[in-house]
Amino acid sequence: MKLYIQGVNDERLHRPIQLIANLFFEEAELCFQANPNQTLTLAFQIEIQELLNVEVVMTSEIGRNYSSSYTAKRVQGDDKEQLRQIKQAVSRVMLTVLQEYTGIVQKWGILTGVRPTKLIHRKNIDGIKMEIAHQQLKEEHLITDEKINLMERIVKRQLAVVPDLYELRDEVSIYIGIPFCPTKCAYCTFPAYAINGRQGSVHSFLGGLHYEIQKVGQWLKENNVKITTIYFGGGTPTSISAQEMDLLYEEMHRSFSDIDKIREITVEAGRPDTITPEKIDILKKWKIDRISINPQSYTQETLKAIGRHHTVDETINKFKLARDMGMSNINMDLIIGLPGEGLDEFANSLEETKKLMPESLTVHTLSFKRASEMTKNKQKYKVAERDEVEEMMNLAQQWTTTNGYEPYYLYRQKNILGNLENVGYSVPGKESIYNIMIMEEMQTIIGIGCGAASKFIHPISGKISHFANPKDPKSYNEGYKEYTDKKLNILTELFRKNRTF
Ligand code: SF4
Repeated sequence: MKLYIQGVNDERLHRPIQLIANLFFEEAELCFQANPNQTLTLAFQIEIQELLNVEVVMTSEIGRNYSSSYTAKRVQGDDKEQLRQIKQAVSRVMLTVLQEYTGIVQKWGILTGVRPTKLIHRKNIDGIKMEIAHQQLKEEHLITDEKINLMERIVKRQLAVVPDLYELRDEVSIYIGIPFCPTKCAYCTFPAYAINGRQGSVHSFLGGLHYEIQKVGQWLKENNVKITTIYFGGGTPTSISAQEMDLLYEEMHRSFSDIDKIREITVEAGRPDTITPEKIDILKKWKIDRISINPQSYTQETLKAIGRHHTVDETINKFKLARDMGMSNINMDLIIGLPGEGLDEFANSLEETKKLMPESLTVHTLSFKRASEMTKNKQKYKVAERDEVEEMMNLAQQWTTTNGYEPYYLYRQKNILGNLENVGYSVPGKESIYNIMIMEEMQTIIGIGCGAASKFIHPISGKISHFANPKDPKSYNEGYKEYTDKKLNILTELFRKNRTF
Protein backbone atom coordinates (compact mmCIF):
# COMPACT_ATOMS: atom_id res chain seq x y z
CA MET A 1 0.00 0.00 0.00
CA LYS A 2 1.47 3.32 -1.10
CA LEU A 3 0.49 6.43 0.83
CA TYR A 4 1.45 9.93 -0.21
CA ILE A 5 2.10 12.31 2.65
CA GLN A 6 2.13 16.04 2.05
CA GLY A 7 2.98 18.94 4.32
CA VAL A 8 5.36 17.06 6.61
CA ASN A 9 8.82 18.43 5.98
CA ASP A 10 10.25 17.73 9.41
CA GLU A 11 11.86 14.29 9.09
CA ARG A 12 11.48 13.67 12.80
CA LEU A 13 7.77 13.19 12.14
CA HIS A 14 8.24 10.56 9.45
CA ARG A 15 8.74 7.68 11.87
CA PRO A 16 5.57 8.24 13.91
CA ILE A 17 3.65 8.49 10.64
CA GLN A 18 5.17 5.25 9.42
CA LEU A 19 4.32 3.50 12.69
CA ILE A 20 0.66 4.48 12.43
CA ALA A 21 0.51 3.43 8.76
CA ASN A 22 1.98 0.03 9.75
CA LEU A 23 -0.93 -0.56 12.11
CA PHE A 24 -3.32 -0.58 9.18
CA PHE A 25 -1.38 -1.93 6.20
CA GLU A 26 0.92 -4.91 6.10
CA GLU A 27 3.34 -3.25 3.73
CA ALA A 28 2.80 0.46 4.06
CA GLU A 29 5.07 2.42 1.75
CA LEU A 30 5.17 6.14 2.47
CA CYS A 31 6.10 8.78 -0.09
CA PHE A 32 6.78 12.21 1.35
CA GLN A 33 6.22 14.04 -1.93
CA ALA A 34 3.45 15.30 -4.17
CA ASN A 35 1.16 12.61 -5.49
CA PRO A 36 0.87 12.63 -9.29
CA ASN A 37 -2.55 10.93 -9.14
CA GLN A 38 -3.99 12.90 -6.25
CA THR A 39 -5.27 9.66 -4.69
CA LEU A 40 -4.51 8.16 -1.30
CA THR A 41 -2.90 11.34 -0.16
CA LEU A 42 -2.75 12.55 3.40
CA ALA A 43 -2.26 16.29 3.35
CA PHE A 44 -1.14 17.63 6.72
CA GLN A 45 -1.20 21.17 7.95
CA ILE A 46 0.88 21.79 11.05
CA GLU A 47 0.76 25.24 12.63
CA ILE A 48 2.29 26.45 15.84
CA GLN A 49 1.18 29.93 16.72
CA GLU A 50 -0.76 30.74 19.85
CA LEU A 51 -1.90 27.13 19.74
CA LEU A 52 -0.54 23.93 18.27
CA ASN A 53 -2.84 23.02 15.45
CA VAL A 54 -2.58 19.87 13.32
CA GLU A 55 -5.02 19.00 10.58
CA VAL A 56 -5.07 16.25 8.00
CA VAL A 57 -7.26 15.62 5.00
CA MET A 58 -7.03 12.25 3.34
CA THR A 59 -8.18 11.80 -0.23
CA SER A 60 -9.06 8.22 -1.13
CA GLU A 61 -8.85 6.39 -4.48
CA ILE A 62 -12.46 7.27 -5.21
CA GLY A 63 -11.99 10.92 -4.31
CA ARG A 64 -13.70 10.69 -0.94
CA ASN A 65 -12.24 12.86 1.78
CA TYR A 66 -11.61 11.99 5.42
CA SER A 67 -10.36 14.60 7.83
CA SER A 68 -9.33 15.11 11.41
CA SER A 69 -7.81 17.91 13.43
CA TYR A 70 -6.24 18.39 16.83
CA THR A 71 -5.55 21.53 18.79
CA ALA A 72 -3.51 21.85 21.96
CA LYS A 73 -1.91 24.56 24.00
CA ARG A 74 1.46 25.59 22.67
CA VAL A 75 4.41 24.53 24.84
CA GLN A 76 6.64 27.55 25.50
CA GLY A 77 10.36 27.13 26.11
CA ASP A 78 10.55 23.35 26.00
CA ASP A 79 11.34 22.21 22.47
CA LYS A 80 11.50 18.56 23.40
CA GLU A 81 8.05 18.56 24.94
CA GLN A 82 6.72 20.59 22.01
CA LEU A 83 8.08 18.01 19.56
CA ARG A 84 6.55 15.20 21.62
CA GLN A 85 3.19 16.93 21.40
CA ILE A 86 3.47 17.49 17.67
CA LYS A 87 4.30 13.83 17.14
CA GLN A 88 1.35 12.82 19.26
CA ALA A 89 -0.98 15.17 17.39
CA VAL A 90 0.21 13.94 13.98
CA SER A 91 -0.26 10.32 15.09
CA ARG A 92 -3.74 11.03 16.44
CA VAL A 93 -5.09 12.71 13.33
CA MET A 94 -3.55 10.10 11.08
CA LEU A 95 -4.99 7.26 13.16
CA THR A 96 -8.43 8.85 13.10
CA VAL A 97 -8.59 9.20 9.31
CA LEU A 98 -7.16 5.74 8.67
CA GLN A 99 -9.66 4.20 11.10
CA GLU A 100 -12.45 5.83 9.16
CA TYR A 101 -10.97 4.91 5.79
CA THR A 102 -10.33 1.23 6.64
CA GLY A 103 -13.13 0.64 9.14
CA ILE A 104 -10.54 -0.89 11.49
CA VAL A 105 -10.62 0.30 15.11
CA GLN A 106 -7.20 0.29 16.74
CA LYS A 107 -7.96 -0.60 20.33
CA TRP A 108 -4.52 0.49 21.46
CA GLY A 109 -4.96 3.86 19.75
CA ILE A 110 -1.67 5.49 18.75
CA LEU A 111 0.31 3.42 21.21
CA THR A 112 2.99 1.42 19.42
CA GLY A 113 5.28 0.72 22.40
CA VAL A 114 5.94 -2.62 24.01
CA ARG A 115 4.89 -1.92 27.61
CA PRO A 116 1.60 -0.03 27.90
CA THR A 117 1.17 -0.70 31.63
CA LYS A 118 4.27 1.38 32.32
CA LEU A 119 2.17 4.43 31.42
CA ILE A 120 -0.20 3.73 34.31
CA HIS A 121 2.62 3.01 36.74
CA ARG A 122 4.24 6.32 35.79
CA LYS A 123 1.03 8.20 36.42
CA ASN A 124 0.55 6.31 39.68
CA ILE A 125 4.05 7.28 40.84
CA ASP A 126 3.23 10.90 39.92
CA GLY A 127 0.20 10.70 42.21
CA ILE A 128 -2.41 10.79 39.44
CA LYS A 129 -5.57 8.96 40.44
CA MET A 130 -6.66 5.94 38.38
CA GLU A 131 -9.83 7.62 37.00
CA ILE A 132 -7.88 10.64 35.83
CA ALA A 133 -5.13 8.45 34.37
CA HIS A 134 -7.86 6.53 32.54
CA GLN A 135 -9.25 9.69 31.00
CA GLN A 136 -5.80 10.95 30.04
CA LEU A 137 -4.87 7.72 28.27
CA LYS A 138 -8.12 7.80 26.39
CA GLU A 139 -7.70 11.38 25.27
CA GLU A 140 -3.97 11.50 24.64
CA HIS A 141 -3.46 8.10 23.06
CA LEU A 142 -6.98 7.23 21.86
CA ILE A 143 -6.84 3.89 23.68
CA THR A 144 -10.23 2.20 24.10
CA ASP A 145 -11.85 1.75 27.52
CA GLU A 146 -11.52 -2.00 27.12
CA LYS A 147 -7.73 -1.87 26.90
CA ILE A 148 -7.35 0.77 29.60
CA ASN A 149 -9.47 -1.38 31.93
CA LEU A 150 -7.20 -4.32 31.18
CA MET A 151 -4.13 -2.23 31.99
CA GLU A 152 -5.68 -1.05 35.24
CA ARG A 153 -6.53 -4.57 36.35
CA ILE A 154 -2.98 -5.64 35.62
CA VAL A 155 -1.38 -2.74 37.48
CA LYS A 156 -3.56 -3.36 40.53
CA ARG A 157 -2.67 -7.04 40.48
CA GLN A 158 1.04 -6.28 40.15
CA LEU A 159 0.96 -3.96 43.13
CA ALA A 160 -0.87 -6.62 45.16
CA VAL A 161 1.79 -9.20 44.25
CA VAL A 162 4.76 -6.86 44.71
CA PRO A 163 3.61 -4.10 47.09
CA ASP A 164 7.15 -2.65 47.15
CA LEU A 165 7.43 -2.60 43.34
CA TYR A 166 8.47 1.06 43.28
CA GLU A 167 11.15 0.53 45.93
CA LEU A 168 13.19 -2.25 44.40
CA ARG A 169 15.68 -0.20 42.43
CA ASP A 170 18.49 -1.03 44.83
CA GLU A 171 18.03 -4.72 44.09
CA VAL A 172 18.51 -6.60 40.84
CA SER A 173 17.01 -9.59 39.07
CA ILE A 174 19.09 -12.08 37.13
CA TYR A 175 18.38 -13.58 33.72
CA ILE A 176 20.40 -16.63 32.69
CA GLY A 177 20.24 -17.51 28.99
CA ILE A 178 20.92 -21.05 27.78
CA PRO A 179 20.80 -20.96 23.98
CA PHE A 180 19.94 -24.55 23.09
CA CYS A 181 16.72 -26.27 22.08
CA PRO A 182 15.90 -29.69 20.64
CA THR A 183 14.92 -28.04 17.32
CA LYS A 184 14.18 -24.49 16.22
CA CYS A 185 10.53 -23.35 16.08
CA ALA A 186 9.53 -21.54 12.90
CA TYR A 187 8.41 -18.32 14.65
CA CYS A 188 11.42 -18.10 16.94
CA THR A 189 14.07 -15.38 16.96
CA PHE A 190 15.53 -16.20 20.36
CA PRO A 191 19.07 -17.47 20.54
CA ALA A 192 18.13 -21.14 20.22
CA TYR A 193 20.50 -23.59 18.56
CA ALA A 194 19.56 -27.22 17.94
CA ILE A 195 21.46 -29.05 20.64
CA ASN A 196 22.12 -32.35 18.89
CA GLY A 197 25.69 -32.71 17.73
CA ARG A 198 26.83 -29.64 19.64
CA GLN A 199 28.09 -31.26 22.80
CA GLY A 200 31.49 -29.58 22.52
CA SER A 201 29.90 -26.21 22.14
CA VAL A 202 27.51 -26.85 25.07
CA HIS A 203 30.42 -27.85 27.26
CA SER A 204 32.44 -24.70 26.52
CA PHE A 205 29.34 -22.55 26.86
CA LEU A 206 28.61 -23.93 30.33
CA GLY A 207 32.21 -23.21 31.32
CA GLY A 208 31.65 -19.55 30.40
CA LEU A 209 28.30 -19.48 32.12
CA HIS A 210 29.73 -20.79 35.41
CA TYR A 211 32.44 -18.15 35.19
CA GLU A 212 29.88 -15.36 34.66
CA ILE A 213 27.70 -16.56 37.54
CA GLN A 214 30.71 -16.65 39.86
CA LYS A 215 31.88 -13.16 38.91
CA VAL A 216 28.45 -11.56 39.05
CA GLY A 217 27.77 -13.32 42.38
CA GLN A 218 31.04 -12.05 43.78
CA TRP A 219 30.26 -8.50 42.66
CA LEU A 220 26.79 -8.63 44.21
CA LYS A 221 28.21 -9.90 47.51
CA GLU A 222 30.97 -7.28 47.59
CA ASN A 223 28.52 -4.51 46.86
CA ASN A 224 25.81 -5.87 49.10
CA VAL A 225 23.20 -5.85 46.33
CA LYS A 226 20.27 -8.19 46.84
CA ILE A 227 18.66 -10.37 44.20
CA THR A 228 14.88 -10.17 43.82
CA THR A 229 14.33 -12.96 41.26
CA ILE A 230 16.27 -15.31 38.98
CA TYR A 231 15.00 -16.54 35.62
CA PHE A 232 16.55 -19.27 33.47
CA GLY A 233 15.46 -18.77 29.86
CA GLY A 234 16.94 -19.18 26.41
CA GLY A 235 16.56 -21.40 24.39
CA THR A 236 15.31 -24.15 26.63
CA PRO A 237 17.35 -24.39 29.84
CA THR A 238 16.27 -28.01 30.33
CA SER A 239 17.90 -28.99 27.00
CA ILE A 240 21.16 -29.62 28.83
CA SER A 241 21.64 -32.88 30.75
CA ALA A 242 20.39 -33.50 34.29
CA GLN A 243 23.99 -33.56 35.50
CA GLU A 244 24.78 -30.25 33.80
CA MET A 245 21.68 -28.72 35.35
CA ASP A 246 22.70 -30.03 38.77
CA LEU A 247 26.15 -28.46 38.51
CA LEU A 248 24.69 -25.19 37.27
CA TYR A 249 22.24 -24.81 40.16
CA GLU A 250 24.96 -25.79 42.57
CA GLU A 251 27.03 -22.95 41.13
CA MET A 252 24.11 -20.60 41.54
CA HIS A 253 23.80 -21.53 45.22
CA ARG A 254 27.52 -21.20 45.80
CA SER A 255 27.88 -17.87 44.00
CA PHE A 256 24.76 -15.98 45.06
CA SER A 257 24.27 -15.19 48.71
CA ASP A 258 21.00 -15.45 50.64
CA ILE A 259 19.45 -17.65 48.03
CA ASP A 260 16.59 -18.49 50.39
CA LYS A 261 15.59 -14.84 50.43
CA ILE A 262 15.29 -14.61 46.64
CA ARG A 263 11.59 -14.21 45.94
CA GLU A 264 11.39 -16.55 42.98
CA ILE A 265 13.53 -18.79 40.77
CA THR A 266 12.00 -19.85 37.46
CA VAL A 267 13.35 -22.36 34.97
CA GLU A 268 11.81 -22.49 31.52
CA ALA A 269 11.26 -26.14 30.68
CA GLY A 270 9.36 -24.93 27.62
CA ARG A 271 9.88 -27.91 25.36
CA PRO A 272 8.18 -30.99 26.83
CA ASP A 273 10.63 -33.19 24.91
CA THR A 274 13.43 -32.03 27.22
CA ILE A 275 11.73 -33.01 30.49
CA THR A 276 12.72 -36.21 32.29
CA PRO A 277 12.11 -37.51 35.83
CA GLU A 278 15.84 -37.01 36.59
CA LYS A 279 15.65 -33.35 35.59
CA ILE A 280 12.55 -32.75 37.69
CA ASP A 281 14.37 -34.32 40.63
CA ILE A 282 17.20 -31.84 40.10
CA LEU A 283 14.79 -28.89 39.91
CA LYS A 284 13.24 -30.02 43.18
CA LYS A 285 16.60 -30.67 44.82
CA TRP A 286 17.55 -27.03 44.24
CA LYS A 287 14.11 -25.72 45.20
CA ILE A 288 13.24 -24.16 41.85
CA ASP A 289 9.91 -22.43 42.49
CA ARG A 290 8.42 -22.22 39.08
CA ILE A 291 8.72 -23.92 35.70
CA SER A 292 7.15 -23.43 32.30
CA ILE A 293 5.97 -26.29 30.09
CA ASN A 294 4.73 -24.82 26.84
CA PRO A 295 2.20 -26.53 24.61
CA GLN A 296 1.74 -23.47 22.30
CA SER A 297 -1.06 -25.52 20.71
CA TYR A 298 -2.82 -28.83 21.31
CA THR A 299 -3.23 -29.51 17.59
CA GLN A 300 -0.65 -31.99 16.37
CA GLU A 301 -0.49 -30.68 12.78
CA THR A 302 0.23 -27.20 14.08
CA LEU A 303 3.17 -28.41 16.17
CA LYS A 304 4.56 -30.12 13.11
CA ALA A 305 4.04 -27.05 10.93
CA ILE A 306 5.92 -24.80 13.34
CA GLY A 307 8.85 -27.18 13.78
CA ARG A 308 8.20 -28.37 17.32
CA HIS A 309 9.10 -32.02 17.23
CA HIS A 310 7.05 -33.18 20.17
CA THR A 311 3.54 -34.53 20.42
CA VAL A 312 0.48 -33.16 22.16
CA ASP A 313 0.46 -36.28 24.36
CA GLU A 314 4.02 -35.59 25.39
CA THR A 315 3.04 -32.12 26.64
CA ILE A 316 0.21 -33.60 28.69
CA ASN A 317 2.29 -36.48 30.02
CA LYS A 318 5.22 -34.26 31.00
CA PHE A 319 2.91 -31.83 32.73
CA LYS A 320 1.38 -34.69 34.72
CA LEU A 321 4.82 -36.05 35.52
CA ALA A 322 5.98 -32.69 36.86
CA ARG A 323 2.79 -32.30 38.83
CA ASP A 324 2.97 -35.82 40.27
CA MET A 325 6.56 -35.22 41.28
CA GLY A 326 5.49 -32.17 43.27
CA MET A 327 6.01 -29.14 41.01
CA SER A 328 3.31 -26.82 42.27
CA ASN A 329 3.83 -23.70 40.17
CA ILE A 330 3.70 -24.49 36.47
CA ASN A 331 3.15 -22.00 33.68
CA MET A 332 1.95 -22.92 30.21
CA ASP A 333 2.17 -20.79 27.06
CA LEU A 334 -0.37 -20.76 24.26
CA ILE A 335 -0.11 -18.83 21.00
CA ILE A 336 -3.13 -17.32 19.26
CA GLY A 337 -3.04 -17.32 15.47
CA LEU A 338 -0.56 -20.11 14.75
CA PRO A 339 -0.59 -21.17 11.08
CA GLY A 340 -3.70 -23.07 10.10
CA GLU A 341 -5.40 -22.36 13.42
CA GLY A 342 -8.72 -20.63 13.97
CA LEU A 343 -11.24 -20.34 16.72
CA ASP A 344 -11.90 -24.12 16.87
CA GLU A 345 -8.27 -25.08 17.37
CA PHE A 346 -7.76 -22.38 19.97
CA ALA A 347 -10.94 -23.40 21.81
CA ASN A 348 -9.59 -26.95 21.82
CA SER A 349 -6.30 -25.72 23.33
CA LEU A 350 -8.25 -24.02 26.11
CA GLU A 351 -10.31 -27.15 26.74
CA GLU A 352 -7.14 -29.20 27.08
CA THR A 353 -5.66 -26.55 29.37
CA LYS A 354 -8.69 -26.92 31.60
CA LYS A 355 -7.86 -30.58 32.17
CA LEU A 356 -4.42 -29.62 33.48
CA MET A 357 -5.09 -26.27 35.16
CA PRO A 358 -1.56 -24.84 35.28
CA GLU A 359 -1.06 -22.09 37.87
CA SER A 360 -0.41 -19.57 35.13
CA LEU A 361 -1.21 -19.32 31.46
CA THR A 362 0.53 -16.93 29.12
CA VAL A 363 -1.45 -16.19 26.00
CA HIS A 364 0.70 -14.86 23.19
CA THR A 365 -0.52 -13.53 19.90
CA LEU A 366 1.62 -14.63 16.99
CA SER A 367 4.01 -12.00 15.77
CA PHE A 368 5.98 -12.09 12.56
CA LYS A 369 9.46 -11.27 13.79
CA ARG A 370 11.73 -10.20 11.02
CA ALA A 371 14.42 -12.86 11.38
CA SER A 372 12.15 -15.86 11.92
CA GLU A 373 11.81 -18.71 9.45
CA MET A 374 8.07 -17.99 9.38
CA THR A 375 8.53 -14.41 8.26
CA LYS A 376 11.13 -15.31 5.65
CA ASN A 377 8.70 -17.80 4.11
CA LYS A 378 5.48 -16.03 4.94
CA GLN A 379 3.59 -17.43 1.94
CA LYS A 380 3.97 -20.94 3.38
CA TYR A 381 2.13 -20.07 6.59
CA LYS A 382 -1.54 -19.19 6.40
CA VAL A 383 -2.79 -17.37 9.47
CA ALA A 384 -6.23 -16.25 10.64
CA GLU A 385 -7.76 -12.92 9.69
CA ARG A 386 -7.80 -10.00 12.09
CA ASP A 387 -11.40 -10.50 13.27
CA GLU A 388 -10.85 -14.15 14.08
CA VAL A 389 -7.64 -13.36 15.95
CA GLU A 390 -9.59 -10.89 18.02
CA GLU A 391 -12.30 -13.46 18.71
CA MET A 392 -9.63 -15.85 19.96
CA MET A 393 -8.25 -13.15 22.21
CA ASN A 394 -11.74 -12.51 23.60
CA LEU A 395 -12.20 -16.22 24.16
CA ALA A 396 -8.94 -16.34 26.13
CA GLN A 397 -10.16 -13.47 28.29
CA GLN A 398 -13.50 -15.11 29.00
CA TRP A 399 -11.95 -18.51 29.62
CA THR A 400 -9.35 -17.22 32.07
CA THR A 401 -11.96 -15.22 34.00
CA THR A 402 -14.30 -18.21 34.21
CA ASN A 403 -11.49 -20.43 35.42
CA GLY A 404 -10.14 -18.18 38.14
CA TYR A 405 -7.15 -16.55 36.43
CA GLU A 406 -6.32 -12.85 36.63
CA PRO A 407 -4.23 -10.96 34.07
CA TYR A 408 -0.99 -9.78 35.67
CA TYR A 409 1.37 -8.70 32.91
CA LEU A 410 1.07 -7.56 29.37
CA TYR A 411 3.33 -6.66 26.49
CA ARG A 412 3.02 -5.90 22.83
CA GLN A 413 5.30 -6.61 19.90
CA LYS A 414 5.90 -5.30 16.44
CA ASN A 415 4.00 -7.10 13.68
CA ILE A 416 1.76 -8.82 16.17
CA LEU A 417 -1.41 -10.24 14.60
CA GLY A 418 -4.37 -7.87 14.84
CA ASN A 419 -2.15 -5.30 16.61
CA LEU A 420 -3.12 -7.06 19.83
CA GLU A 421 -1.08 -8.11 22.85
CA ASN A 422 0.43 -10.91 24.91
CA VAL A 423 -1.09 -11.37 28.34
CA GLY A 424 0.11 -13.38 31.31
CA TYR A 425 -2.72 -14.78 33.46
CA SER A 426 -2.30 -16.44 36.80
CA VAL A 427 -4.33 -17.82 39.66
CA PRO A 428 -3.89 -15.37 42.54
CA GLY A 429 -0.62 -15.85 44.37
CA LYS A 430 1.20 -17.70 41.59
CA GLU A 431 2.19 -14.75 39.40
CA SER A 432 5.76 -14.61 38.16
CA ILE A 433 7.50 -11.74 39.91
CA TYR A 434 10.29 -11.80 37.32
CA ASN A 435 7.77 -11.18 34.54
CA ILE A 436 6.51 -8.13 36.39
CA MET A 437 10.06 -6.89 36.90
CA ILE A 438 11.07 -7.25 33.27
CA MET A 439 7.89 -5.69 31.92
CA GLU A 440 7.63 -2.72 34.23
CA GLU A 441 11.35 -1.88 34.16
CA MET A 442 11.49 -1.05 37.85
CA GLN A 443 14.93 -2.49 38.51
CA THR A 444 18.14 -3.60 36.81
CA ILE A 445 18.13 -7.03 35.21
CA ILE A 446 21.58 -8.56 34.85
CA GLY A 447 21.73 -10.83 31.81
CA ILE A 448 24.13 -13.76 32.04
CA GLY A 449 24.80 -16.28 29.27
CA CYS A 450 24.15 -16.39 25.57
CA GLY A 451 21.96 -13.70 24.06
CA ALA A 452 21.24 -12.39 27.53
CA ALA A 453 20.48 -8.69 27.45
CA SER A 454 21.24 -6.71 30.59
CA LYS A 455 19.01 -3.78 31.28
CA PHE A 456 20.34 -1.18 33.66
CA ILE A 457 17.86 1.13 35.34
CA HIS A 458 19.29 4.28 36.82
CA PRO A 459 18.03 4.18 40.42
CA ILE A 460 17.16 7.88 40.50
CA SER A 461 16.30 9.03 36.98
CA GLY A 462 14.96 5.65 35.86
CA LYS A 463 16.99 6.08 32.64
CA ILE A 464 17.48 2.77 30.89
CA SER A 465 20.64 1.50 29.25
CA HIS A 466 21.33 -1.86 27.67
CA PHE A 467 24.19 -4.26 27.29
CA ALA A 468 23.92 -7.49 25.31
CA ASN A 469 25.96 -10.66 25.46
CA PRO A 470 26.56 -12.28 22.05
CA LYS A 471 23.77 -14.45 20.72
CA ASP A 472 25.76 -17.33 19.32
CA PRO A 473 27.65 -19.76 21.53
CA LYS A 474 30.88 -19.44 19.52
CA SER A 475 31.21 -15.68 20.06
CA TYR A 476 30.13 -16.11 23.65
CA ASN A 477 32.73 -18.78 24.29
CA GLU A 478 35.43 -16.56 22.81
CA GLY A 479 34.50 -13.40 24.68
CA TYR A 480 32.65 -14.15 27.92
CA LYS A 481 35.41 -12.80 30.19
CA GLU A 482 35.48 -9.50 28.39
CA TYR A 483 31.66 -9.25 28.41
CA THR A 484 31.57 -10.03 32.13
CA ASP A 485 34.13 -7.30 32.89
CA LYS A 486 32.26 -4.71 30.85
CA LYS A 487 29.01 -5.53 32.60
CA LEU A 488 30.54 -5.35 36.05
CA ASN A 489 32.07 -1.98 35.21
CA ILE A 490 28.66 -0.64 34.22
CA LEU A 491 27.16 -2.01 37.45
CA THR A 492 29.92 -0.47 39.55
CA GLU A 493 29.38 2.89 37.93
CA LEU A 494 25.60 2.70 38.33
CA PHE A 495 25.52 1.54 41.95
CA ARG A 496 28.43 3.67 43.18
CA LYS A 497 26.88 6.88 41.94
CA ASN A 498 23.43 6.17 43.16
CA ARG A 499 23.74 4.27 46.36
CA THR A 500 20.88 5.45 48.50
CA PHE A 501 21.64 3.35 51.57
S1 SF4 B 1 11.44 -23.74 22.23
FE1 SF4 B 1 11.34 -21.52 22.49
S2 SF4 B 1 13.46 -20.81 22.39
FE2 SF4 B 1 13.40 -22.92 21.57
S3 SF4 B 1 13.20 -22.66 19.36
FE3 SF4 B 1 11.13 -22.90 20.18
S4 SF4 B 1 10.44 -20.78 20.60
FE4 SF4 B 1 12.65 -20.70 20.31
